[in-house]
Amino acid sequence: MPVAGGSVAGPMSRTPHLVSRLQGFGTTIFAEMSALASETGAVNLGQGFPDTDGPTEISEAAVAAIRAGHNQYPPGPGIPELRHAVAEHQRRFYRLDFDPQSEVLVTAGATEAITAALLALCEVGDEVVMFEPYYDSYGAATAMAGAQRVVVTLRPPDYGFDVDALAAAVSAKTRAILLNSPHNPTGKVFSAAELEAVARICIEHDLICITDEVYEHLVFEGEHIPIATLGGMAERTITISSAGKTFSFTGWKIGWACARPDLLGAVRTAKQFLTYVNGAPFQHAVALGLGLGDEVYRGLAADLRTKRDRLCAGLRSAGFEVYPPAGTYFVTTDIRPFGVEDGMAFCRELPYRCGVVAVPNVVFYDNLVEGRHLVRFAFCKRLDVLDDAVARLEKLST
Ligand code: PMP
Ligand code: GLN
Repeated sequence: MPVAGGSVAGPMSRTPHLVSRLQGFGTTIFAEMSALASETGAVNLGQGFPDTDGPTEISEAAVAAIRAGHNQYPPGPGIPELRHAVAEHQRRFYRLDFDPQSEVLVTAGATEAITAALLALCEVGDEVVMFEPYYDSYGAATAMAGAQRVVVTLRPPDYGFDVDALAAAVSAKTRAILLNSPHNPTGKVFSAAELEAVARICIEHDLICITDEVYEHLVFEGEHIPIATLGGMAERTITISSAGKTFSFTGWKIGWACARPDLLGAVRTAKQFLTYVNGAPFQHAVALGLGLGDEVYRGLAADLRTKRDRLCAGLRSAGFEVYPPAGTYFVTTDIRPFGVEDGMAFCRELPYRCGVVAVPNVVFYDNLVEGRHLVRFAFCKRLDVLDDAVARLEKLST
């Protein structure tokens, strides 16, 4: 039985020893599905990680940093070179000004930045508004902070939302809105008008916006607009991103948060007691990566666009209803054309039926009925791997 929060657990199962606020979070769907892929030898289009390395100059910079002896604890907030590179990146792409000393914090991936922000800002019992489907760690991190999530549903085909529903989700207990654009798992890139609606509500109710922008450079249609660029938002937004998706080094776990000093100071306090620091040599490499030319960023997005188009066409011809993503490296499909509705059962059987692994979107929903029939495929894989997966999926309708 799927349990909201991106995880799976047996019916009514309780995990021994685990505190009640984390009961039900079980094992993440990504771990379950990647294990299923290795067990069955299926093509893994489940967990989102590229099957090729990012730019060689970045990986060489990590090797050089190890050889140069950057192997001990880096400074708590991150090495100065990386904090400067993040600030410069925000200026270069979005004209956002952050002081590298007081307004940039390096974290163990975006995951730690999000968790630290929630732990730092939420009192027990506070509410955090987020759109569903939501990335799995949001549910668990909100629970760890003792806060409650309140969801507003994004619905296909365009994954728009009802502004009145968003306004109605805000109560006297709401502390923050947790936003993710470009959005995992739908691939939605929030429009200027949608971001303005979110901003208006944040301002009206004096809320903080925690924004997860890890897919900021993986945009194929439209434009990524950081919500911090909207009027009245810079002072109430914590902008979070990471190098994993942009540069195809998901295992390095170098992320960052940018915010005005008072907000960032709160996040830093929580962060220093989570990991304290991480990835010293990788911080050097990512500092170099962020400074690479526009053609590198464009090249990575162009490569993914080709892969998106290839997989979307293949899934359509295999019989899925496809919702082509404007960004990220995931595509959501509807499985009802196959005469079935249960995405969880479908994904658990898929490796045995045709040798492919995907992720059931239902785990990203609190309102299970909204996501029951939706299944996500990752296209950050080599073209021959995508073609192989499609050839296998074609068998579903024969
Ligand atoms: N947010 C979203 C929406 C994600 O898809 C992911 C997975 N990369 C993360 C955060 C986690 O990022 P990181 O690996 O940098 O912790
Ligand atoms: N972000 C990746 C995805 O959505 C997974 C990362 C993880 O396994 N936690 O597939």
